[in-house]
Amino acid sequence: MKTAEGVKGVANGHDADYDLFVIGAGSGGVRAARIAASHGAKVAIAEEYRVGGTCVIRGCVPKKLFVYASRFPKEFSDAAGFGWTTSPPVFDWPTLTANTATEISRLEAAYRQTLDKNGVTLFQSRAVVEAPGRLYLSATGETVTARVILVATGARPHYDPAVPGLEHAITSNEVFHLDRQPKRIVIVGAGYIAVEFAGIFRGLGSEVAMIYRGDKLLRGFDEDVRDDLMAAYRGHGIDLRMGIKVAAVTVKGAQRIVQLTDGTSITCDAVLIATGRYPNTEGLGLERAGVVLGANGRVMVDADSRTSVSTIYAVGDVTDRMALTPVAIREGHAFADYLFGTTTWSADYELVPTAVFSTPEIGTVGMTEDAARRVFGKVDIYKTRFRPMKAVMAGRDDRMLMKLVVDAASDRVLGCHVLGPDAGEIVQMAAIAMLMGATKAHFDRTMALHPSAAEELVTMRDKWVPPAAG
Ligand SMILES: Cc1cc2nc3c(=O)[nH]c(=O)nc-3n(C[C@H](O)[C@H](O)[C@H](O)COP(=O)(O)OP(=O)(O)OC[C@H]3O[C@@H](n4cnc5c(N)ncnc54)[C@H](O)[C@@H]3O)c2cc1C
Repeated sequence: MKTAEGVKGVANGHDADYDLFVIGAGSGGVRAARIAASHGAKVAIAEEYRVGGTCVIRGCVPKKLFVYASRFPKEFSDAAGFGWTTSPPVFDWPTLTANTATEISRLEAAYRQTLDKNGVTLFQSRAVVEAPGRLYLSATGETVTARVILVATGARPHYDPAVPGLEHAITSNEVFHLDRQPKRIVIVGAGYIAVEFAGIFRGLGSEVAMIYRGDKLLRGFDEDVRDDLMAAYRGHGIDLRMGIKVAAVTVKGAQRIVQLTDGTSITCDAVLIATGRYPNTEGLGLERAGVVLGANGRVMVDADSRTSVSTIYAVGDVTDRMALTPVAIREGHAFADYLFGTTTWSADYELVPTAVFSTPEIGTVGMTEDAARRVFGKVDIYKTRFRPMKAVMAGRDDRMLMKLVVDAASDRVLGCHVLGPDAGEIVQMAAIAMLMGATKAHFDRTMALHPSAAEELVTMRDKWVPPAAG
């Protein structure tokens, strides 16, 4: 424990209320608070909304529950091919939102319990930094002092304020609380959140249009994955309008009218803006305290998550390093071990597996084909597209994509990209092998697990050859 002899890099002799004060009880903040407390530090945490943060309250968790809900219609119709006769299923939106809310409250209570069990003092309040080592709590008006401050305030939805009428739109913050399922929804954006909600609402039977100024969904993902997802979405009846922007949103009764820059318009029941997220640093007092902020207000930190002020640290989305829950958790854990424990380590940003919970799902780890070609020059590509066994029997024409990007010189697997059922689950396992430096020969030597979709990853033998021109 570091508190007796002084926190690393923080002068002793200052009689502070806490060794550590964490702002924000989300993924990164809660982990950091718990671990620091377990090392013997006196810890407090402030949360202005609900304990658990974005992931638990209005991100990963409710999103995944909605994804599950949206996939049932396919299961019901597939069942017929396997001999089942079912009565027409009926979906009830209020049941989904109510049950999701109950589950989230359960998780929030578990988070609170964790903090409590570890002796972390929770302030249900917004906290603002007054100066290094001093914070203001707006709920009570009190000032507290701490030897170290950890900023773990996350991020918030961002949209272009110049577009008239966007106040009539919703963001991912509101989407889980709608009274009624929008039967027609326009989704603006093409990142993973936009793509996931498009899949959710289409699966639940809504008419869905996606609006994006660029030419393809999911910038930064492998091109094959992007192309196949767009084909699948079009096949599911999602209206993809690429290369276009929203000019204005107007209201007509309960309806929204989305005017587009090509002069056309779409009438719908809800407009969901998912055009990115900005770090939550507005009004936090960081600049006044001497903390250097970067683009869009992100907190600039070094490899130990330390800001330009030696007693102020930051982890998670607010630093905009890699906006994912497991990354925020690792950063928070490493920070607490480094400052209050005896081990020094840092989060590993290489080979971070991620999923897009679209339907079909995407799992990806490592380099895209384009990135690998830029860095390694010569790469070998192994890819296969096939109809999963279940789809064949169900009479669906769904395709699954598996792709490996391999360094031609070393045979090391640089990237693994999967589109189709359970892609996230498959790629989580592939990531372990890749982190250990697996080569294509290792994949080839691995015995197939049959019958499975994942076995394709260890049975692809032929390098992909681009089709001859002309
Ligand atoms: C719709 C959606 C889906 C997502 N899906 C996934 C997914 O599938 N997988 C994945 O890995 N990631 C997903 N994410 C991202 C993930 O939620 C974040 O990366 C993660 O929550 C970041 O954790 P954090 O600790 O940095 O911040 P957060 O979890 O956002 O926590 C920050 C907390 O700080 C509080 N706060 C802010 N300012 C103050 C203040 N001044 N005083 C007191 N409290 C304050 C906030 O209320 C919040 O509770 C998703 C995000 C969204 C929006």
